Amino acid sequence: MKTVGLLGGMSWESSLFYYKAINEGVKAKLGDLHSAKIAMVSVDFDEIERLQHTQDWQKLGDILAKEASNIEKAGADCLLICTNTMHKVAPQVQSAINIPLIHIADATAKALIKDGIKKVGLLGTAFTMEQDFYKSRLQAHGLEVLIPNKKDIELIHSVIYNELCLGECKAVSKEAYLKIINKLEKEGAEGVILGCTEIGMLIKQTDTGVKLYDTTYIHAQSAVDFAC
Ligand code: GLU
Repeated sequence: MKTVGLLGGMSWESSLFYYKAINEGVKAKLGDLHSAKIAMVSVDFDEIERLQHTQDWQKLGDILAKEASNIEKAGADCLLICTNTMHKVAPQVQSAINIPLIHIADATAKALIKDGIKKVGLLGTAFTMEQDFYKSRLQAHGLEVLIPNKKDIELIHSVIYNELCLGECKAVSKEAYLKIINKLEKEGAEGVILGCTEIGMLIKQTDTGVKLYDTTYIHAQSAVDFAC
């Protein structure tokens, strides 16, 4: 079994899920008392969040590149950045290490293509929905990407930082997210990407008839496939 490198803490609420899902995936594949070999660094999200909102992506890239290198030194055979948003600096992180970075958008695109989806809705932080680094990665796989309107983007972004990353799941936010998912479906989305690693805490597949693609689960699963 290979060792999975996790760069987490963004937020720790979703890193918990990565740790659990990767261990469960390895157990499902290998059985008995098998568990995943993991080398993990978890950062202080308060510092990361401030730098995101002042758009200091260079400094963010430096921080993550340094931690990724520490994870490689700890014996990891691959690296997962446990957040969609911070894939903005994925090229800088990859160039600092000699192990493969398993890109969350590539893993997600593969799952969509496997299901024959061509047009997909994207929920995430405003950075992920509005900027190009994530959408262009999906588009490179031939996918058409729909994002919510400006008002809905603001609501989704605010719920992520002010509730989900603090471990809070509110019924009113769940209702608002489900309405936005329905709107995307009406606009032609054949499925919706939960493109923020905390959204799965709020919205489950059983809440809606629209096919959901939870990036946390998909990303964790790709680590299991790599490791075993
Ligand atoms: N975990 C979230 C994501 O997947 C948001 C937190 C962050 O900005 O890293 O984008």
